[in-house]
Amino acid sequence: MTRSSRTYRLHCFFLSGSLITRVVLTDGERAHESYSCCAHWLLIFKVLFLTKFSDFALAEPIQKAIAAGGYTTPTPIQQQAIPPALEGKDILGIAQTGTGKTAAFSLPSIHHLLNNKKRAGRFECRMLVLAPTRELARQIADSMTGYSKGLGMYVTSAFGGVPINRQKRILERGVDVLVATPGRLLDLVDQRFLNLSKVEILVLDEADQMLDLGFIVPLKKIVPLLPKQRQSLFFSATMPKTISQLADQFLTNPIQVSVAPQSTTAERVDQRVTYINQDDKQRLLKDFVNNENPDHMLVFTQTKHAADKVVKNLMAVGIHSAAIHGNKSQPQRERALGDFKKGKINILVATDIAARGIDVDGITHVINFDMPNVSEQYVHRIGRTARAGASGISYSMVAPDERQFLRDVVKLTGVSPDVVPLPEGYDEPAREEVASRIYGQKPKKYGATPTRNGPARNKHSARKGRPGGGGSGRGGPGSGAGAGAKSDGPKHWNNGAKSFKRRQARNADA
Ligand code: AMP
Repeated sequence: MTRSSRTYRLHCFFLSGSLITRVVLTDGERAHESYSCCAHWLLIFKVLFLTKFSDFALAEPIQKAIAAGGYTTPTPIQQQAIPPALEGKDILGIAQTGTGKTAAFSLPSIHHLLNNKKRAGRFECRMLVLAPTRELARQIADSMTGYSKGLGMYVTSAFGGVPINRQKRILERGVDVLVATPGRLLDLVDQRFLNLSKVEILVLDEADQMLDLGFIVPLKKIVPLLPKQRQSLFFSATMPKTISQLADQFLTNPIQVSVAPQSTTAERVDQRVTYINQDDKQRLLKDFVNNENPDHMLVFTQTKHAADKVVKNLMAVGIHSAAIHGNKSQPQRERALGDFKKGKINILVATDIAARGIDVDGITHVINFDMPNVSEQYVHRIGRTARAGASGISYSMVAPDERQFLRDVVKLTGVSPDVVPLPEGYDEPAREEVASRIYGQKPKKYGATPTRNGPARNKHSARKGRPGGGGSGRGGPGSGAGAGAKSDGPKHWNNGAKSFKRRQARNADA
């Protein structure tokens, strides 16, 4: 199936005293120009001038639910996506979490389900939302339950890590909305407790993370189970070629909507960085917590093992925190997240996979205990503290072997974090370790390093059309304030060998 994505551009200029406007519609490969097309005008008008929820043709009870939720103004992604979605069009949306995209796809879908009221048959669902993680699935289901409050709609979720039997019992009756992770969804289909042939609306959320998590095979299995006649809404934070190819399989003549590129989130966050030896990070984190006394702090580690270690070390000095990662049971994950949301604990330590898409208001600090090896991940991480227009502080602890990751981040975001010097009593970090030393290959072959972390970095870099971070990167775009070689020194060169072993151990645990 070929995809034909549409974008509209509006050009205004004066000619002989008259305001002339030109609309360019790009439909797949072709571009059409128009000076007087009413249909396009209508859409442009809707996108540009709808600023209140009451401007949308949403059913009255939905408007009430929106007001009850305290929303007054639609976010940009809602302004762009809701009008075409209400018209039943397919949507290809480029937006991160935190932009209000859950409501952008939920509100018009609930409107459709309400306007075409019918009972879902046994083992059927009318709307299917696919999400990459359990937490996100649960969160979307909670939001949709709120948006459809009092409308007699049945919203449920299905994901792994919890007993399947309850999910089977619920599906047996049929549901209006099912929010699911792909693996559990296929389990339910295989066991004949779910029939997708009556799905009217399909939403695929966080498509890029779906691919990162290896869900491409389950997704390809799900497509043929869906009816051809349906509305599909597809959202991704980034749109590399692999994602648009995936979108081709789900969408028909989609309207493309997007909000500001994800790297702009970084501008609202007060970004700080300290160059430090890996061995000193635990101590620095404790000092940081004691000095800053953060209200609501999210700490990111690269591995599950590292997350547990951070929790243990904080606990040793009486600082309470909890970890959330793939080795924790679902009840443990939910308890940790719940305690963090309610403020019972101030610190949540997470791996990227567990944290993506999690919507927690009021996060004051994001700590990169380990730098992410994919630059976009940095933007996702620090974006946890800049939700809904808020600002916050991010603090990255950069070990010598992570400096290239920082340069990649500076290149992506165009923002160089402020360098915070190490407090007294800490050894200056060792000389920068080049990638070849970490992964035991020549810098230019860094892209093909067969470690567990290595290929992911390269896969992403290649997919996203970015340089893969090869070599030492000296003199690269991030080598100014962001990469700050000021701490380099021959004093601790031996740390390189230690760090190499440590890094390998971390990789084995990823
Ligand atoms: P999302 O990107 O869907 O995860 O939404 C991020 C946060 O923004 C959630 O806490 C939503 O409740 C909130 N939100 C969504 N739409 C609006 C809106 N129009 N006005 C205010 N907050 C909103």
